[in-house]
Amino acid sequence: MDAPAFTTALPPVLDAALAYAARGWPVLPVHGVLNGRCTCGTEHCASPGKHPITARGVNDATADPDRVRARFDGQPRANIGIATGDRSGIIVLDIDRDKGGDESLRDLEAEYGPLPATARTSSLRTQAGR
Ligand SMILES: [Zn+2]
Repeated sequence: MDAPAFTTALPPVLDAALAYAARGWPVLPVHGVLNGRCTCGTEHCASPGKHPITARGVNDATADPDRVRARFDGQPRANIGIATGDRSGIIVLDIDRDKGGDESLRDLEAEYGPLPATARTSSLRTQAGR
């Protein structure tokens, strides 16, 4: 049986990766999830859809368009990883609500002030630690 056709309303992954790279954000391909399973093929993958495809992981992240094309070539089901921190200026704040994250954030904002207006992802429930 052939694999189902990949259809999405989102832009092809390469276009999105290049758009991130154009912002100066170093990107790398990470495995995706297809039919509920990580595309790495490991039956019980510990980090489905979230671990690098490339050998050197985040060290392979690049904002160079030619290298982005090379990294994502032949990876239509890849997710896009972005190197955070100093390399991109992106800081990610993951609030685990079931582990007191809301209270911790409230305490931090009381001490240091509210977080600035920033991009947010929609609420996404993931398995703890993944
Ligand atoms: Zn995997």
